Amino acid sequence: MSLIVQKFGGSSVRDAERIRNVARIIAETYLKGNDVMVVLSAQGDTTDDLIAKAEEINRHPSKREMDMLLATGEQISVALCAMALEAMGLPCVSLTAWQVGIHSTTQHGDARIKLIDPDRIRMELDSHRIVIVTGFQGVDKRGDVTTLGRGGSDTSAVALAAAFRADLCQIFTDVDGVYTTDPRLVPNARKLEEITYDEMLELASQGAQVLHNRSVELAKKFRVNLEVLSSLERKPGTKVKEVTKVEKTNIAGVAKDTSIARVALVGLEHTPGIAFQIFDLLSRHNINVDVILQSIGREDSKDITFTIHRKDLDETLDLLNDNKATLHFDHIESDDHIGKVSIVGAGFMSNCGIASRMFEALYEAGINIQMINTSEIRISVLLNEEDVNRAVKAIHAKFFD
Ligand code: ASP
Ligand code: MG
Repeated sequence: MSLIVQKFGGSSVRDAERIRNVARIIAETYLKGNDVMVVLSAQGDTTDDLIAKAEEINRHPSKREMDMLLATGEQISVALCAMALEAMGLPCVSLTAWQVGIHSTTQHGDARIKLIDPDRIRMELDSHRIVIVTGFQGVDKRGDVTTLGRGGSDTSAVALAAAFRADLCQIFTDVDGVYTTDPRLVPNARKLEEITYDEMLELASQGAQVLHNRSVELAKKFRVNLEVLSSLERKPGTKVKEVTKVEKTNIAGVAKDTSIARVALVGLEHTPGIAFQIFDLLSRHNINVDVILQSIGREDSKDITFTIHRKDLDETLDLLNDNKATLHFDHIESDDHIGKVSIVGAGFMSNCGIASRMFEALYEAGINIQMINTSEIRISVLLNEEDVNRAVKAIHAKFFD
């Protein structure tokens, strides 16, 4: 007998028919003699609809009340799923994060799970009930409901799997696994049988929208056996694990992100402490910086260019301009139509030809690279936003055709 966590995303529970389908998958797993813990997202577009409802009432609601509202979506799903299982004669119980005791930080809208009380769930599993838990939510030290950030149900599922040392955590979605790139853009993208945590983490944070990246971080930290698979078709998905079977000869995938802005501070003084001042200012305002490039100083001035999320551009420009007197730059240049294309693969370190093949693909497609950034298992290029899709196709063809 194993303990299996099964998480179903919004599209997998969007209506009565899909909920019955999910209940059948759960029932099958349970009737094989497993303990089953289920984690659900809100149905379909419920979370977006709730946000729209809030906006009709108040354009700037407090984050606490927003969480109070958004957490209701998942509560609907778990109750309906429990009813579907009841109708099949199966013992089950639905629980909110508050009832379980999924303790989180207070940061409404972006809370982190700190600790999960094992008692209630343990008791239910010991009585052979299927336990159905709301994803995406927690409860803070005051007892207030929090949410974990958009897409956070994956993280709830992995956190529960880690806390109960589950044998397997299955993430069911409407795609049947992790692909070498977005199959809607590149029809011959291939499904990966398996991928390492690190590769998945890089892909998730570089814009591949299969898994919430914090869920992958947690899975890696606690060695949770993860599998991404379809709730609509019964076939094997993609396994996410520590090491993959064979020595890798190719990259795992190509990801894109088109929500980027680039900022350049031109004519900075070439003295110690300038970079510190700039990035300290941004970090104090919770602005995440991704790629940073500093030009070689010429005479006594230098330029620093960096990228941020597009939503932070206005605030960043205001902050920098407000501090022009202390930062001593000549002027700012910015562009909010930047995209990033990345390739990810665990075998990079030992294969120097990979980068040149990527650049060759871009050269052949006539695409200009603005900035380049690498990690041990990733190479990213920053491009004009309009070149992104073409770049993904060209690079994917180079490595996989
Ligand atoms: N319902 C939440 C959202 O749409 C959480 C999730 O789906 O994982 O972001
Ligand atoms: Mg959702």
